Amino acid sequence: MTTYKLFLLAGDGIGPEVMAEVEKIIRHFASEGVAKFEIEKGLVGGSAYDAHGAAISDADVKRAADADAVMFGAVGGPKWDGVPYDVRPESGLLRLRKDLGLYANLRPAICYPALAAASSLKREVVEGLDIMIVRELTGGVYFGEPKQIIDLGNGQKRAIDTQVYDTYEIERIGRVAFDLAKRRGNKVTSADKRNVMKSGVLWNEVMTALHAREYPDVKLEHQLADALGMQLVRWPKQFDVIVTDNLFGDMLSDVAAMLTGSLGMLPSASLGDADPKTGKRRALYEPVHGSAPDIAGRGMANPIAMIGSFGMALRYSFGLNQAADRLEKAIAEVLAEGLRTADIKSEGSRVVSTAEMGDAIVAELAQQAAESVTDEEN
Ligand code: NAD
Repeated sequence: MTTYKLFLLAGDGIGPEVMAEVEKIIRHFASEGVAKFEIEKGLVGGSAYDAHGAAISDADVKRAADADAVMFGAVGGPKWDGVPYDVRPESGLLRLRKDLGLYANLRPAICYPALAAASSLKREVVEGLDIMIVRELTGGVYFGEPKQIIDLGNGQKRAIDTQVYDTYEIERIGRVAFDLAKRRGNKVTSADKRNVMKSGVLWNEVMTALHAREYPDVKLEHQLADALGMQLVRWPKQFDVIVTDNLFGDMLSDVAAMLTGSLGMLPSASLGDADPKTGKRRALYEPVHGSAPDIAGRGMANPIAMIGSFGMALRYSFGLNQAADRLEKAIAEVLAEGLRTADIKSEGSRVVSTAEMGDAIVAELAQQAAESVTDEEN
């Protein structure tokens, strides 16, 4: 049986609470013999700062680099508002992204039928929605130089950010999107602003050439990023995989997130290059939400975003697609039965704690396993 090395960085606030539920899922899959999981744990964010004055230690960055997948909870909270800028809790996550070369951010937006009513859009627009936004994460205007505010000396200042992309950066994020599409609905929509930005012209050219050269069987379409924003709220089901740069991806993925309801439901993955020898990609999986200090320590947090992030690890780091499908089905089933954490409660639902939600998902997985044994016996 294959052994997978998981490095858990629970972080602060509700991070440890939701990570505890992922550990239950890991233990369950291990007990079924799906795979063996070797688990190490480290500190990140405020808890790491309290322990050793940095948002993550060098030793933990190395452990993260050596793992098959990093599971990341959340960092930050008012306790650390006053710490120096370079050791603030978020810098632990930024260092991991940089040192592990995590340039592709994957955010699925899936609407579970049981939660369609929680969306601000009409049920028919979002029910059954399953799209994936692939955002370039390490380049573009957030990192380009020069990046400065200049005093012009006449009472005016000038702020400069630089949007910059090289061919290789566009090609590698494009490959992630096309490879994903091949395993899903076989369609990629690339978003840029080629009508007003040179970086958009290059983005468009490189995507078009990559498609013709390496992925002619995948359908590619281009949309201007602003128009795509409109289409996302008009008829999101037209999309399968959307690929775009860091800035547009930041915004469009937040829009897509809200199509499906609560922050507590949204998983994500950040991937780096595949090792040419082993094919293994560096990978970090984390919920989209933060440390939610307002509800931390009260057993109220929704663990589904964190558990869904582990589902992405099963699929994208370990290739355990059947286990990932089962986990998604178990989540859908528990929601269909009316169990809800407080953030997604609705009329007629039963409000449960973080731990009860995790237990219910494990129980559902156990039931699936029992049913498949019965099926085989019959
Ligand atoms: P947040 O995501 O922590 O919380 C926003 C709101 O959503 C809160 O009302 C919270 O209670 C609710 N919420 C979030 N996750 C939930 C869950 N799983 N279940 C139920 N409700 C949930 O964002 P914020 O309040 O802007 O930030 C709080 C702290 O988290 C800050 O220190 C911020 O810097 C940090 N943060 C960290 C990350 C990260 O670790 N990747 C991301 C965003 C914010």
